[in-house]
Amino acid sequence: MPRAPFDLAGIRVMPGSRKQIDVPVARLYTHAPLHIPVEVVHGRRQGPVMLVCGGIHGDEINSVEIVRRLMRSKQIQGLHGTLVAVPIVNVFGFMQHSRYLPDRRDLNRCFPGSETGSLGARVAALFREQIVDHATHIIDLHTGAIHRTNLPQIRAQLSPGSVTERMANAFGAPVILNAELREGSLRHYAQIRGIPVLTYEAGEALRFDEWAITPGVRGVLRVMRRLGMLAGEHRRRPPPAAELANGSSWARAPIDGILRPKVRLGARVARGDVLGKVADPFGNAEAAVRSMADGIVIGMSRLPLANEGEALFHIARFDAIEEAESAIETFHSSLEPLPDPLY
Ligand SMILES: [Zn+2]
Repeated sequence: MPRAPFDLAGIRVMPGSRKQIDVPVARLYTHAPLHIPVEVVHGRRQGPVMLVCGGIHGDEINSVEIVRRLMRSKQIQGLHGTLVAVPIVNVFGFMQHSRYLPDRRDLNRCFPGSETGSLGARVAALFREQIVDHATHIIDLHTGAIHRTNLPQIRAQLSPGSVTERMANAFGAPVILNAELREGSLRHYAQIRGIPVLTYEAGEALRFDEWAITPGVRGVLRVMRRLGMLAGEHRRRPPPAAELANGSSWARAPIDGILRPKVRLGARVARGDVLGKVADPFGNAEAAVRSMADGIVIGMSRLPLANEGEALFHIARFDAIEEAESAIETFHSSLEPLPDPLY
């Protein structure tokens, strides 16, 4: 039986074709219309409807490049199912190099949204109704916030044997965090609707980090392959091992001052280790930032200026710390050499 066409925002995509759709979202102050750009690849064969979206936070541009490379990949030819790619959800923030919407709201706290609410609520409702509700599976792409960088990691709510767990393991990021759901996030909404959803967090806002982009593209393709959306499964190697963190916490600045980090992203640290030092500009008053746990540095500040209490180093804890360390080593060696980012 031939596959039915796929309808999105009033546009029809026939089986075996792809189409770019500009979903009208709102108007700028100037009255110029603004759209969320979407590309749909509607395969000839039955399969899942995978939504891959980036830029819910408008300054997280690694995700935009992950989507671009995914859509240029030859591997999605002959797709089973449908791929819905949205490189930039928060188009307002993207134009301003900002995480937020023009009203300072965080779009990832606005779901499920409302058609009669504020701008954030309306954008969330529109994205949900026109795009998210079509999906059977979701991968939501993020980076660290501004001046913060993340080791590539998957965040998901994992229950043993669930589709979400299988997707998380297939992705091949070195670390998986069984992360609490935040009210109002896309992940929270999808989880309540019963749509398996992963969040990929890697790199820094407003930067292209090749070591975050390359594994992001590979990870999305691996998940699609695991779900039977891509051909050639038998020829592919299994994804590199990922370690599940059993918790995480931030080491904070003990005083106001200037930070000199002593550790790198991915470093294994022990409880009490010095992660960095914060000092006044002359170095007279100086205090060490110490790790409160044995673990791995999965996120850190990139700005050397800190106020007392500011979160500087994100430390994940593991039951199997040796395995976590070796998963990170394997991950780093899988990226050697990194491809030319301009290809
Ligand atoms: Zn984000």
